[in-house]
Formats: sequence, structure tokens, C-alpha cells
Amino acid sequence: MVRVRFAPSPTGSLHIGSVRTALFNWLYARAQSGKFILRIEDTDKKRSSDVHLEEIISSLKWLGLDWDGEPYFQSKRSELYLSCADKLIQKGLAHKDGEAVIFKVPAERVKIYDLIHGEIEVDNALIGELVLIKSDRSPAYNFACVVDDIEMKISHVIRGDDHISNTNKQVALYTALDAKPPKFAHIPLILGPDKAPLSKRFGAVSISEYKEKGYLPQAMVNYLSLLGWSPGNDREFMDTQEIIKKFSLKRVNKRGAEFNEDKLRWLNGEHIRKLDLDGFIKAVTPFIKGDHDAGWLRKVAELYRGRVKTLVEFREELDVFTSEDVHYREDAVEKFLKKGNVLGILRLAKERMEKIKDFTVENIEIELRDLLKELGLKGADLIHPLRVAVTGKSVSAGIFEVLALLGKEKTIKRLEQVIKK
Ligand code: GLU
Repeated sequence: MVRVRFAPSPTGSLHIGSVRTALFNWLYARAQSGKFILRIEDTDKKRSSDVHLEEIISSLKWLGLDWDGEPYFQSKRSELYLSCADKLIQKGLAHKDGEAVIFKVPAERVKIYDLIHGEIEVDNALIGELVLIKSDRSPAYNFACVVDDIEMKISHVIRGDDHISNTNKQVALYTALDAKPPKFAHIPLILGPDKAPLSKRFGAVSISEYKEKGYLPQAMVNYLSLLGWSPGNDREFMDTQEIIKKFSLKRVNKRGAEFNEDKLRWLNGEHIRKLDLDGFIKAVTPFIKGDHDAGWLRKVAELYRGRVKTLVEFREELDVFTSEDVHYREDAVEKFLKKGNVLGILRLAKERMEKIKDFTVENIEIELRDLLKELGLKGADLIHPLRVAVTGKSVSAGIFEVLALLGKEKTIKRLEQVIKK
């Protein structure tokens, strides 16, 4: 039976790289009908914190990466590590140095069988000694990790390439503890667009920031699954069930995976588009400020759901309707409001709209098309300036829909302000 684990240390924010490791483990467990274990590596008491623990738990929940059974906490398992260290002392493989326990790494070549990189052979002769238990009696990472992976019957250790340099030491510990090493799968590091490991500048931010930016969890899962893995046939947009069905370690690349936020945005837009209207409103509600008429909000949602790439973008579109002051983009004003007789045309459009009793999409369109005909103008001559005048931007949903949702009062008021200026 496949048993994998995600073993974060709650010593900092949960970054994209760790989440991708968690995801690959979870996908593998679900694809193989195995178990996904959550193990909190909190032996470093000074650096571990509850805030980070909470962030790990809530992020995994947000993404839907559910774990089997209760999480394990290494801080509660010291007895086990100490007794295993004692066993190694009794076997003559380790010795005490004050309160610390030190393991003498056999000077031999060890083979790591890695499912992604193939066989890796490392000479352990240069390692010398390895601390198992530190002088404060807490276990060192390599030791606690191996003891737990044995005790938890982990079948596959899936983790980042940066751990390859630990694996040869860990293999020596398996041998010392008379246990068979699990299968290893070291997954490629995630690189920034500058081809360097993710940095603060590129993507190395906590997963919660992506939530705040308005990315959907299913889009994050979809995007992160493609960082180092692909199902083939250029397939990219997938829901989680499809990813589980297709996921295999065989198709994980050896080379680094490049993080590209534009692609994440694109995928997020696709996932947003896939939501039904109720689902969209539910997802976007936490991002919306103030109270809105439910029917009106539904209409705005209907109009913009297919046009936004993040939930924050939707809030920005909503702000265009609700805010008192229009934020005018300079380039849009330059391009569309400073031409010839634009203000004269807008004045006539305003007068026409003042006459409309029932300010509906249809009535607005009839009135404005009639005006265009009378003036002998093309649609674009009015629509572009009108859009900039009422929204401040040169792109929006259909102008007649926008005007109707804005309402007569606001439309007229915004036009008056533009004409005055
Ligand atoms: N706590 C380690 C880390 O966060 C776990 C590494 C492992 O998976 O063995 O890097």
C-alpha cells in the first residue's frame, strides 16, 4: 500500500515550493488509493510557531489536500527518537557525547534508487559523523525523519531536489536501524522566470497571498500540478479529479519547473469561467466590500464573470460601479476624450439619456443608436468616449449593459462631471 507524507516544519510561511511537494504527495496517494500523512516537524522549538502551524493547516484545507488520520507532531515523539538512539548506541553504531548522540556514518558507497532520477550512487566516506540527538536532547532532522518514516511505514518519500544531499545520510540510517529504505522521488525545484530558484521577487511568497490575490484553490492545484509534471498531449486545464486520474511519478520531469504567474492567471480565469453563477458569487463574496442588492450584484457578476482572471479583478470592476469618484486612466482620457467634438457628442448623449424613463439596456441602446443616426456617426465615435467617461477605462463589458447597471443617476452625474472638466 502506498503511504506518503508531507512533513513541513512550522518555522516560516508555507511557500509555493512546499505546497507543490504536498500536492504531489497527495495526488500520488489519491491516485494509488494510498494514505497521505501529515507530519509536523516541529522539533526546533525556538523557530516553530503556532501561527505557522495554523497557516499550514488552513492552506492545506483551502486547497482541499485532506490528510488521513490525525497529524503527527514530532515534538510529541521524543521518547521514540531517544529510544532508537539508545538502540544504536547498544549496537555500537553510535556514541554519546555529553547529552548528544552521534552516529558514525560507515565509509561506504550507498545507492539511492530514485523514481525520477534513476540510480544515484554517493560515497559516504567524507561525511564522518552525524548528529542524531542534539545536546538539548531534541532529535536532528535526518534522524527524526528516518525514525518516523520507518515507524509510519512510509512507502515513498516525495520531496524537493534540495533534499538529495540528505538522502544518502538517511539511507545509512535505515541500514543501521535494520530497515529497508522507502522509494525516493526527488522532484525538481521550481525556478523563477530568471531561471534561478524562486526568490522573494518571483513567486516565493506564501500560498495565502495567492488566496488573497483572488486565485481559486482549484486553479492553484491545477497550476501547481503542472510545475514539474504533465499529463501529456498538451493538456493543461484540468479539474482536480482529472489530475488525480492522470497523475503518475513517471511523468515528473528531472529538470526545474518554471513558475509563471501569467499562466497561473490564465488558468485561474478558465476556472472562474467554469463556475456557475452561484459558485462564482460564493467565491467572490469574501472579496466584496459593503452591501449590495443581490439581484444587482448577480447582474454584474453575470456580465464580468467571463472577463476577470482573479476575484480581486472582479472587485475592481465592481468598484467602478459603486465608487463615488471615477479613477480616470490618463491614457484612456488622452486617447478618447481629448478629440475634436467628443464633449459635444457626450452632451447630446447625456440629454438623450435624461429622457429615458425606464433605464434598461434596450432603451439605452435604442436612444443612443438613434442619436448616432441623427449625427451620422459610427458606433465607435460615441461608445469609446462614453465608456471612458463613465468608467475611466477603455475596456469594459458591453457599454449598454454597463450603463444600465450603473443606473441613470450615476451615469448622468459622471457625464456632467466629464463635460464640466
Ligand atoms: N521538514 C522537512 C522540510 O520541510 C521535511 C523534508 C522531508 O520531506 O524529508 O524540508
